[in-house]
Amino acid sequence: MLRVQHALLSPMESLVSASTAVVPPNAVANSRSAWSVLKFGGTSVSKRSRWDTIGRLAMARQAESGPVLVVVSAISGVTNALLAIIDAAQRDADKTAALVSALCETHREFAATLQIDADGVIGHRFAELRALSGDARATCADVGWQAELQALGELMSSALGEAYLNQQGIPIRWIDARQHMRAIVLPNTTEWAARLSVNCHIDTSPDYRAAFAEQGALLITQGFIARDEAERTCILGRGGSDTSAAYFGARLQAARVEIWTDVPGMFSANPREVPQARLLSRLDYEEAQEIATTGAKVLHPRCIGPCRESRVPLWIRDTERPELAGTLIDASAADAAPGVKAISTRKGIVLVSMESIGMWQQVGFLADVFAIFRAHGLSVDLIGSAESNVTVSLDPSENLVSSNVIDALCADLAAFCRVKVIVPCASITLVGRGMRSLLHKLSDVMAVFGRERVHLISQSSNDLNLTFVVDEAAAEGLLPKLHELLIASGAMPVDEAAVFGPSWRQISGQAAARAACWWQSRQTALLSLATGTPRYVYHLPTARARAQALAAVEAVDRRFYAIKANPHPALLRTLVDAGFGLECVSEGELRHVFASVPGLDPVRVLFTPSFAARQEYAEARALGVRITLDSVYPLQMWPALFRGLDLQLRIDPGFGSGHHEKVRTGGKGAKFGLPATRLAEFLAAADVVAARVVGLHAHIGSGVTDAAHWRTVYSQLAGLAEQIGTVESIDVGGGLGVPYEPDAPDFDLQAYGRALAEVKAAWPQYELWIEPGRYLVAEAGVLLTRVTQCVDKLGVRRIGVDAGMNALIRPALYGAYHEIVNLSRLEDAPGAPADVVGPICESGDVLGRRRRLPASTQEGDVLLIATTGAYGAAMASTYNLRALPAEELLDD
Ligand code: ADP
Ligand code: ASP
Ligand code: MG
Repeated sequence: MLRVQHALLSPMESLVSASTAVVPPNAVANSRSAWSVLKFGGTSVSKRSRWDTIGRLAMARQAESGPVLVVVSAISGVTNALLAIIDAAQRDADKTAALVSALCETHREFAATLQIDADGVIGHRFAELRALSGDARATCADVGWQAELQALGELMSSALGEAYLNQQGIPIRWIDARQHMRAIVLPNTTEWAARLSVNCHIDTSPDYRAAFAEQGALLITQGFIARDEAERTCILGRGGSDTSAAYFGARLQAARVEIWTDVPGMFSANPREVPQARLLSRLDYEEAQEIATTGAKVLHPRCIGPCRESRVPLWIRDTERPELAGTLIDASAADAAPGVKAISTRKGIVLVSMESIGMWQQVGFLADVFAIFRAHGLSVDLIGSAESNVTVSLDPSENLVSSNVIDALCADLAAFCRVKVIVPCASITLVGRGMRSLLHKLSDVMAVFGRERVHLISQSSNDLNLTFVVDEAAAEGLLPKLHELLIASGAMPVDEAAVFGPSWRQISGQAAARAACWWQSRQTALLSLATGTPRYVYHLPTARARAQALAAVEAVDRRFYAIKANPHPALLRTLVDAGFGLECVSEGELRHVFASVPGLDPVRVLFTPSFAARQEYAEARALGVRITLDSVYPLQMWPALFRGLDLQLRIDPGFGSGHHEKVRTGGKGAKFGLPATRLAEFLAAADVVAARVVGLHAHIGSGVTDAAHWRTVYSQLAGLAEQIGTVESIDVGGGLGVPYEPDAPDFDLQAYGRALAEVKAAWPQYELWIEPGRYLVAEAGVLLTRVTQCVDKLGVRRIGVDAGMNALIRPALYGAYHEIVNLSRLEDAPGAPADVVGPICESGDVLGRRRRLPASTQEGDVLLIATTGAYGAAMASTYNLRALPAEELLDD
């Protein structure tokens, strides 16, 4: 059985730690104590099996390196339930009682799964809960009362955990975190923050450590809670258990702090929202701080500071997948090449825009307005300023949500300026070192924002972030698209194996759904075809399979293959046999299809050129194919050519879409299509020559993965068709995306079919036409190329091959990714990352960066570049006078 070394699978293999000892004790600086602090979040303490893992991990750490402190959150959902009680207790006694009973019952049920008697272990907490819920302080929502109630969640979970682990024979001892976490009052702290979002004192004295150690070598305590100087209970703010663990780590000068949660590390985006997000194996404190501050909930933003100051390494790991090594955050992160490491988002951003005519050069204006923010306990985050306007953003804090502080702020600001509050907004932040040197790679990302209403752009002075503030609704669904563009443009250097691990999709097993590629089981056949390289090989059964899959999309009445993707005659015949017509964009293509497919009926051929010369239309007319026009110029300048014809009209729907700016064919920036505003003019010109518009067409880009896009296009065209009256068919073009990355999902043909069925049902009077190119042939083709030289230069390894950008231009032109494997050594393990480069005299002649081909790769080996059936040979050139690549077919 052939085993393919997927370059992208290897980081995952390397991330699996052989033992649970992820930081060898001898790697720890001598000044450190041997303490390990292990924090387990809500989901990590909500199942019996996870408590078994907690016990195992704690014992393992103790055996490996020394004493262990386990810090726990409340059981999943419990803090929310306590907040609901706090809310109800202020006005509805019955509801409060019901919520309190339900919360006690939740704990009883959970304790039962642990075979623990809840009332015996935490019965006194239930009593406290009941008493607090009826406390007189509820009427004024007293912040101290709120803190005491919220603290109960962690107090209960830690006590149940202690009882269970003891019952399992693990001698862990419960301690009250409030004896150790001492809240400090910072300048300008509000009453609210002084109890409900506290910072804590870090005592790193040896005396403290010695006293702490007296309590035992295996301890369990609560995250989230602290005590102030008056011995009153305080809390650290939502998600604050991470920060408790960090404070303990700093105070104990621990060997490490481990944050155990429900994802195996910090990712390049929230993995729940962006399945393609990549695990960040290594980060330095500053980058991790930036990612956490800008929205990655996996770490409480305040948790990095204590670790950074004390130089305690911080790990993020997954309780459900303890074998994965996760993310390591420390001071010595991997090689810091500029690059976007992550994209994060925060909702609930409040923008305050302050307009003042006389502000320009007015000394002290900012001091005056910022004093007002301070007075309201509001910290300003982003700032944009102009001659007469200053706009600032406020962090989404519970303080903002739970009081009318904004109204009060505006009332006070009104004395100085005109105030406008813009809500709800969301910030989207790109985080990484050297953002300012990356701007040239961000043009696609900028283009996406260019289509939204951006209220504020801010670039941090530490050059670690670039933030865009947009309306909250506009941010919806934007992250996966932006993440994809960051990878495609090379701004996010995911080939840096030292930093970027596998994707969430790979880790969570979703990637397995994709079928094996045809070439994986044809090593021998392909090697025998690699006699003259570079050589494309096309697998006809794959093209047939794609054609059949599309033919099964019921809503479609007619389908055409856009031959520009790959005009190989055998592919044309295969697709015509499968029921496809052919769509051509030049006179040359027209001649080619009639020469390649004997007896081809012209009604099966479309001619959709762009800025073609007059005689090309004449030729198309003579051949009897359906002509598409996309401006009024040909009709007005060469009316005789179109007299009496049935025409198709290409509309520009006003927006583009696709995997790269260069393949987006809609919108003002693109040369294609008639804007709807000029429809009347076009129809008038057609009328003059008695031509009829019988079809409408739009194709707004290529490599589109969201089916909603075609629904939008069709609806727009159908609206115009109704105005025209003579339209019989609507052609929504192609653009269907294909999976280029090994872990990318297949195009969702079901969703595509559903979207088309919806529009077809809404406008059954029109025939629905499609004209895909890439989708039919991309995966059917591979490019075989031979290794010419392997060269190490100044620490960069390069594998030279005989195919360059002349044979395959997509990586150079679009920054496109193509999987590359060593076909001669499929069984060999991946080696160090190397760039695969061609023989063309251009520094952009790179086919793949940082690829982990086998270390044994040598001159003469055959490399296979996958998914090159579309726009591979078709875009090849003889640049540098290198021969065009050969082409070969496989039909089994
Ligand atoms: P816990 O209860 O263990 O403290 P949280 O829910 O607070 O866990 O944090 C883990 C969650 O953080 C993940 O399930 C994920 O949805 C979210 N998250 C947001 N951004 C990121 C990111 N960049 N990397 C990893 N996780 C993230
Ligand atoms: N239980 C608290 C919360 O849900 C703290 C934490 O889990 O980190 O916010
Ligand atoms: Mg958390």
